[in-house]
Amino acid sequence: MKRRAFLLLFLIAAVAAPAWAQPAAATAAGNPLLKEWTTPFQAPPFQEIKPEHFLPAVKEALAAQRKEIQAIVDNPSAPTFENTILALEHSGELLSKVQGVFGALQGAETNPELQRVNREVAPIVGAARDEIALNPKLFDRVKAVYQGRDKAKLTPLQKKLVEETYKGYVRSGANLDEAKKEQLKKVNAELSDLGIKFGDNLLHDTNTYQLVIDKAEDLKGLPPSVVASGADAAKAAKMPGKWVYTLQAPSIWPFLQYADNRELRRQIMTAYTTRCDHNDQWDNKKIIARIAALRVQRANLLGYKTHADFVLEENMAKNPAGVYGLLNQLWKPAREVALREAADLQAAIDKEEGIFKLDAGDWRYYTEKVRKARYDLDEQALRPYFKLDNVLQGAFYVANQLYGITITPRPDVPTYHPEVKAWEVKDRDGSHLALFYTDFHPRPGKRVGAWTGGMRGSSVRNGKVIRPIVTNVCNFSRPAGDEPALITLEEVGTLFHEFGHAIASFLGKVPYRTLARFPRDFVEVPSQIMENWALEPDVLKVYAKHYKTGEVIPAALVEKIEKAEQFNQGFVTVEYLAASILDMDWHTLATPEEKDATAFEQASMEKIKNLPEIPPRYRSPYFSHIVGGYAAGYYAYIWSEVLDKDAFEAFKEKGLFDQPTAKAFRALLENGGTEDPMKAYVKFRGKEPSVEPLLKARGLK
Ligand SMILES: [Zn+2]
Repeated sequence: MKRRAFLLLFLIAAVAAPAWAQPAAATAAGNPLLKEWTTPFQAPPFQEIKPEHFLPAVKEALAAQRKEIQAIVDNPSAPTFENTILALEHSGELLSKVQGVFGALQGAETNPELQRVNREVAPIVGAARDEIALNPKLFDRVKAVYQGRDKAKLTPLQKKLVEETYKGYVRSGANLDEAKKEQLKKVNAELSDLGIKFGDNLLHDTNTYQLVIDKAEDLKGLPPSVVASGADAAKAAKMPGKWVYTLQAPSIWPFLQYADNRELRRQIMTAYTTRCDHNDQWDNKKIIARIAALRVQRANLLGYKTHADFVLEENMAKNPAGVYGLLNQLWKPAREVALREAADLQAAIDKEEGIFKLDAGDWRYYTEKVRKARYDLDEQALRPYFKLDNVLQGAFYVANQLYGITITPRPDVPTYHPEVKAWEVKDRDGSHLALFYTDFHPRPGKRVGAWTGGMRGSSVRNGKVIRPIVTNVCNFSRPAGDEPALITLEEVGTLFHEFGHAIASFLGKVPYRTLARFPRDFVEVPSQIMENWALEPDVLKVYAKHYKTGEVIPAALVEKIEKAEQFNQGFVTVEYLAASILDMDWHTLATPEEKDATAFEQASMEKIKNLPEIPPRYRSPYFSHIVGGYAAGYYAYIWSEVLDKDAFEAFKEKGLFDQPTAKAFRALLENGGTEDPMKAYVKFRGKEPSVEPLLKARGLK
């Protein structure tokens, strides 16, 4: 009750914000974002921070950063590590401080006022970033330090910082002559326009399609909740009394899982797989081909053979051969299992005396039938064992057993919402590691999904160690009635996953922010590996206790969970791998001619003998990941999973909480991106990762 009342008050306050905005707050003196924070751990004083503080604070912080950059450029002394690289590394500290808070609220506790501020702030911050990246005088100094790096007396880490800073400039074209710089600018501008157009087209085709049902008999097979959401969608579309299903995930997938009407399943599936493929004004085939061609041009300008080479030099996989090597190793066993699954489904069809061949629109429907017959795992029966508070304590327990860290509540630390909890993370020896916020339930103003945020990164400045502020934000089931919050099995996985990202931040020891980041294909390892502990019987014993009786979850139920997890993994793996291979094929083109997207994709799928019943998870005209930031990077999810399964295997071999193994893994997390990731991994594991543990975990072997 109390919570609701507060929420209401908060919303009113937020909407009314402009009215009570104090002009004084806009000045530096009254702006809490610009003051020194005297709270415990220098946590943001949320109770004082108001939406109208952000814009003036960002402007002030940008001005400060500009001055810092100018001072580096104007320095009459010859460029050195300290006066150039380190000064650059330390510039923009105030901006990071303000943006850390702003970013956290944008995701977890936004309102129209903050969104308005964001629209104003984003372009000026972006412009400031470009100003630094494209400042030729600044680059000259960076380059001078880079060229003298072997003669300067630098520590290995300092040298690494010099190299990474320099590389960042070079990768954005700082080393090109003026003519080529102009060319690059043009390519980037066209890519940015095409990216927006691609997204708009996809939004159009996703949102315009409706499967309208007007006869109740066509709803056969759908559970009541799916029928009800279809009726709601129809009402919203001004077709009361009918049912509407769309191409949005919460609508199409349950429909395909349950609808008995095969023709309707075929219709909605076809609508989904032909999005932006109708040769009309919203068609994306020419756009994706043009994007691929422009990326080749850019790669060539910057001295790379293909776009994938450009992207992958930053990743653990290093080059296209590394990625294809992994994908091909997984493809064969996954395809074989998918073929067996297809045969099972065909058998189910035959048993129903259906005289037809399984196709893409049938897969989910018959999978659901086979799943029910074989496993009959009732999600709802699990929830009483997963009380949210207990699950969180279970995750804390694992961290404690592995690394000796302890996590205790800090109700004295200000938070941005009464539901948010603050915790202090301490190391084995009692020293402070991090401030940690947990924010677990959905609210208006919170983005969907789950994520780990960093309100402050860790670093060392003038010998002073700065420890991070980390958030775990999720949208877990709320308490219902008198019950505490009981979460689903999937949510348990999510909690452990996000907490794994948080642990990596707690333990990070890299003194420079620029170096404190994992490569994209490693970033999910610390999170995914934690999910493995969640379902280990010895860990379940600690936290999975019935919220009323305290009884530990029965072993038979755990076994059921494990078996059900491996079901349909042939399909899941094949549809993912097919998309990853398609992504790699587009981005290993070495010449900038524009391909026929249909023929290109077909050849790509024929090459791997993909199953016609399993289209790639994303087809070219709607593969938005690879138009956005995941070009030549969609493979990263499974690359990380190979690593996390292989790393967890080390614990299974030596003991779930074996201390030497935990210590070696901790070193991997502490050093972040400072070491060659494969070398660092081999140091931990004693050998290169193998795909076997992943194949076993997914039941592909
Ligand atoms: Zn993650």
